Amino acid sequence: MADSNFIDYVKILCRSGKGGAGSRHFYRAKYIPKGGPDGGDGGKGGDIILKGNSHMWTLLPLRYRRHIFAQNGQSGSEGRSSGKNGEDVVIDVPCGTVVFDAETGQYICEVTYDGEEVVLLPGGRGGLGNWHFKSPTNRTPRYAQPGEPAQERTVILELKLLADVGLVGFPNAGKSTLLSSISAAKPKIADYPFTTMEPQLGIVPYRDNRSFVMADIPGIIEGASEGKGLGLRFLRHIERNAVLLFMIPADADDIKTQYDILLDELRKFNPQLMDKQRILAISKSDMLDDELKSAIATTLPEDIPYVFISAVTGEGLDKLKDILWGAVNDESNRIATPSITHRPLDGHHRLREEDELVIDSPRVNDEEELDEIFEHDWDAWDDNEFENDLEHEEK
Ligand code: GDP
Ligand code: MG
Repeated sequence: MADSNFIDYVKILCRSGKGGAGSRHFYRAKYIPKGGPDGGDGGKGGDIILKGNSHMWTLLPLRYRRHIFAQNGQSGSEGRSSGKNGEDVVIDVPCGTVVFDAETGQYICEVTYDGEEVVLLPGGRGGLGNWHFKSPTNRTPRYAQPGEPAQERTVILELKLLADVGLVGFPNAGKSTLLSSISAAKPKIADYPFTTMEPQLGIVPYRDNRSFVMADIPGIIEGASEGKGLGLRFLRHIERNAVLLFMIPADADDIKTQYDILLDELRKFNPQLMDKQRILAISKSDMLDDELKSAIATTLPEDIPYVFISAVTGEGLDKLKDILWGAVNDESNRIATPSITHRPLDGHHRLREEDELVIDSPRVNDEEELDEIFEHDWDAWDDNEFENDLEHEEK
C-alpha cells in the first residue's frame, strides 16, 4: 500500500439513468390508415452499482471520477418495440467501503465482501407504451407513460479497513515497529507522535502458510473521539477489526490507567467496539527484567489476556501471534457486518481537503431524449371520426 495513495474518503455525485418514455405511436399502413395504437415501452434507466473488489486497497481511483452518471433508457417506438435499457455503471470499490449521504450524513449502504454488488441508485423504470392503454372505451389512447425520473445524490464513500487485528495505542507505543517486525509492511517509525499518518495494513505470516491481517492505526490520543489530533479520522477503521490489540509500553507510568483511557476513547467513539475481543501487549519489554515483569503483572487489568513483547529482541512475539490467531479464528470474533451500526457522518470531524479538489467532467446530455414521443403526427388524428368509423363497421 503506497503511502500517498491511501485515500479513504471521496465525495462523488451519482446519477442513475432515467427511464425511457413509452411511445404514443399509432399504426398506419397504406390500406390500414387507422391501425390503432402500437407504441412500445421505454427502456429502463441504468443503475449505479457498487461492487466489492478485494484487490483494491484505496478509494484513489474514484478521486478523479467526481461525477458518475448511468445511461438513460431509450424511448419506446412503433410496432410495440421497446426502447433499449440504459447501461448500468458498476463502480469497483475496496471491501469495507461505507456510503453516506453527503448532505445529511446519513448512512446509506456498505460493500463488505469481494464481488458483492449493491445498487446505490436504481435507474428509472421505462414508461408503458400507448398500446397498453387500449380498452373497449378508448381504442385510441393518446396517452403513454413517461419514464421514471433519474435519481441523483451526492455521496461520501468512506473506507473502513477490513483487518483481522487492529492496533490500539497511544503514539509511541511501538505499534508501527511491531507491524514491521512481524509482517512485510514497512511503516514509518520514529520517536515522536503521529509518525503514522495513514493506516498501514500488514499480512502477518503464521504457521503452516496461514496468515492474518493486522492494521496499524494512527495513534489515538485522549479526546480523539471528540476530534482531537489525527486519531478520529482513523478511529473508524477500528470498527471493522475482529480483534483489538491494545499496546502499552513497558515504561508507561501506569498501564492500567492508560488502558482505561484507551478503552474509554473507544467507547465514546462507538460503544459497540466494546464487544470486540481485546488483548493487551506490553511493548518494549526489553527494558524490563523478570522482577519488574512480575511486579507489573500484578497491576494489570484483569479482564484481558496479556503478553510481554519486544519488537527489538523478538520476545513474546510467537506467543502474541498464537493468541491473536486463536482470537481471530474464534467464531464469536468473526467480522459480522450487521453487528456494527455506522453512525452518521459528522462534517465537523472530517478533514475537508479532498472536497476542494473537484474535477469537472462534461455532463451527459440527458434532456435530448426526453419527450421524443411524437413519432407520429397524431394531432391530425380525429378521435370522433375514428369512433364513427368503428361504429359503422360494426353495423
Ligand atoms: P507507534 O507510534 O505506536 O507506531 O510507535 P513506533 O513503532 O513508531 O515506536 C516509537 C518508538 O519506540 C521508536 O523510537 C521505536 O524505536 C521504539 N520502540 C518500538 N518498539 C520497541 C521495543 O520493542 N523496544 C524498545 N526498546 N523500543 C521500541
Ligand atoms: Mg506508528
